[in-house]
Amino acid sequence: MGRVLIIGAGGVGTVVVHKVAQNPEVFTEVMLASRTKSKCDAIAQTIGGGKIQTAQVDADNVEDLIRLFNSFKPELVINVALPYQDLTIMDACLACRVNYLDTANYEPKDEAKYEYSWQWAYQDKFKEAGLTAILGCGFDPGVTSVFTAYAAKHHFDELHTLDIVDCNAGDHGKAFATNFNPEINIREVTQKGKYWENGEWVETEPHEIHKPLNYPNIGAKESYVIYHEELESLVKNFPTLKRARFWMTFGQEYLTHLRVIQNIGMARIDPIIYNGVEIVPIQFLKAVLPDPGELGENYTGETSIGCRITGIKDGKERTYYIYNNCSHEAAFRETGMQGVSYTTGVPAMIGAMMFFKGIWRKPGVFNVEEFNPDPFMEQLNIHGLPWHELFDIDLEM
Ligand code: NDP
Repeated sequence: MGRVLIIGAGGVGTVVVHKVAQNPEVFTEVMLASRTKSKCDAIAQTIGGGKIQTAQVDADNVEDLIRLFNSFKPELVINVALPYQDLTIMDACLACRVNYLDTANYEPKDEAKYEYSWQWAYQDKFKEAGLTAILGCGFDPGVTSVFTAYAAKHHFDELHTLDIVDCNAGDHGKAFATNFNPEINIREVTQKGKYWENGEWVETEPHEIHKPLNYPNIGAKESYVIYHEELESLVKNFPTLKRARFWMTFGQEYLTHLRVIQNIGMARIDPIIYNGVEIVPIQFLKAVLPDPGELGENYTGETSIGCRITGIKDGKERTYYIYNNCSHEAAFRETGMQGVSYTTGVPAMIGAMMFFKGIWRKPGVFNVEEFNPDPFMEQLNIHGLPWHELFDIDLEM
């Protein structure tokens, strides 16, 4: 059906390659390209059969990307490199008439700022070129956004409150490690909290609002309100929402490490001079922390991510909870990666499948909740992320 180029040979990229290779009727030609080609080759080798082509690319460099796009001629690029590369990859897509999909919104390197404005600004260019850009197609953003669209389509006439709840109850046995790229992860969780209420954003101190929430098959876990990028597009696309928040679980040990990292200046994103060389402390920290792609082997437990929603159906108030639980061990057995990479990589593959099947294909730049959720939801059940629904329960909110 189509030629796909995956950029980024990290934890998420590894899962995308495995899932794409499992669906050869959709993905007929596959290339994996990244900064370090040897990592692409190692992943391609685990798939075997010469099915995955590999290449080196510097995705910060538009000319380098254009050269690669012109030689491989993909119809779609799945960008699972870092959020810093979103705009250069989108520019190269426009230059070579290639469609685009990612899992995280653009962030400038020198400022931990999460907003869609930079990518939404490409709307007219993609529309005029007749190209599709699918933004935020991981789990959160991604599946949580599709869950919300599914709830709005099938179970509510009006959405009133949305609480996205993200629990990782896994144990990787390390004193401190992040589950995806440490630099991006630490920038995200150390910023101020922010949520939507009555038409405006309310800012909080980092981790100021917290309480225990009960997660299916897991139990109570302390959960913290943090800002997360899908809130921005969801409150725009579902304007009846009076409140929208994002909760994430953190263990005390993790928070203590995070506080120390910040207090000693290792979370700084501005360059400093060390022994006459310019380094960025958080990038140096990344180099000494465990690689999230190598956490999988002894990872036990599971993740539970979902949406808790209130609103009106047929004139009556109703509550609704939709979620997926994902086992780290099962993810590792299938792909060699832990559950957080798995829950991100599977939806990226399904979004690409929606594109190639012509179901999620229209000119312009779109967040995933703007497409028909039903065929995507069907594929989640087939490809390893089954979901469950609970109606009219206490949402603990
Ligand atoms: P990793 O750090 O494991 O992988 C990133 C990969 O991108 C690495 O292989 C890296 O190369 C490559 N890369 C970085 N810079 C460049 C560049 N300039 N040119 C080419 N390749 C480059 O990250 P993850 O796999 O954990 O995360 C990937 C993406 O997924 C991130 O954007 C993250 O924010 C997103 N994500 C989204 C989630 C969601 O639910 N929506 C959840 C988790 C992650 P090298 O190997 O040489 O370092």
